[in-house]
Amino acid sequence: MGGVGGGRSVPDDGLAERRLTFGGRDRPALAHPCHRCRLAHFGPPATGAVWLTSANPNAEEAADCLAVLHEARATPSGWPQPGRLRGEWTTPVFRIAPSEAEALRALLEEESGTRIRVQLTARTGRGIPKTVVATLPGQDHSDYFIFCAHGDSDSGGPGADDNASGVAIVLEISRAWSAAVRAGLIPSPALDIRFISWGSEIRSTRQYVERMSGEEPRLRGVINFDQSGFGSWRDALFAEPDDVPVNSRIIGIIRDLAIEHLGQPGFPERFATTKSQGGTDSYVFQSERIMAEGIVPSLTVYTSAWSSLNPLPVTPGFPPVNWYEDEEEGMVTVDGDAFYHSAGDTPENTTDREPWNMGWCARLGLLTARRFIDGG
Ligand SMILES: [Zn+2]
Repeated sequence: MGGVGGGRSVPDDGLAERRLTFGGRDRPALAHPCHRCRLAHFGPPATGAVWLTSANPNAEEAADCLAVLHEARATPSGWPQPGRLRGEWTTPVFRIAPSEAEALRALLEEESGTRIRVQLTARTGRGIPKTVVATLPGQDHSDYFIFCAHGDSDSGGPGADDNASGVAIVLEISRAWSAAVRAGLIPSPALDIRFISWGSEIRSTRQYVERMSGEEPRLRGVINFDQSGFGSWRDALFAEPDDVPVNSRIIGIIRDLAIEHLGQPGFPERFATTKSQGGTDSYVFQSERIMAEGIVPSLTVYTSAWSSLNPLPVTPGFPPVNWYEDEEEGMVTVDGDAFYHSAGDTPENTTDREPWNMGWCARLGLLTARRFIDGG
């Protein structure tokens, strides 16, 4: 769980680590079809061999192998999804895409002497996620507003879009806002602004809310960023949820601002709000079970959600702004990220290709919070 504290990170409790290095040794690959099941895997695993399997490998069976190549489900981009393995593992497991597994199988069927070279430097251990909280002091400390993003890559992939993009936006808003206050360009905000990178998505957020419950000052609102740096099929900005009554004012503000700035440099040409999709930190602040003193306005601002295009019914009164002409009446299609939760969610594949997405989120997020706080 993530620890919390104003302007500091909670120290790690010490990471027990072990390094496993397999330095490019050649080993024969197994090419005997397995008779135990009808899955197209090769086995049974043998000492010192590389085991190619499409079934979930188990640690005991693989114990004497040099490595396991596990055929995983692919994302729409073709990259395999990382995943969790059961049991205690000492054998390295490489997840490979179906297209790679197919090519390997063809090779193994052709000739029995195929050799595979694997190379891995891995670090394993136990640690605690760290939540970092920084505060821009307001004129009045009795209330505060939160900008946040989950700082972990919850899938185990590199997580450039999900969710280094969100953390980058929170950092940029905090940098720009505090610099403007320091330079005397704008007065200090009316209330405290907390900038938070969650150690562990949803879990750390829940813990934070539980800790602050019953405490002064009072939380006035939240803007969260998640998958805010890339979208594979559309070029638009999204904010949600627009179907939760407590959000009506903040949703109205971000919609007005999107319309006021439509197509201007640094702002999107297309904008939509959507109904609740869940699955991200802003929803913790709208859980009646967790928020003992009542739920608060809380938005997630983003440029893609999940891994594919997702058509949703438009919430009455909240039509998308300047939307695509081929959209079905009454629907709005949310963009996805073809690299979602995969090993391919790297800056080269996602955030570096559309860095303006983070700029849109930072500008509209900051303007929305300022108008919301000032009551304008
Ligand atoms: Zn995320």
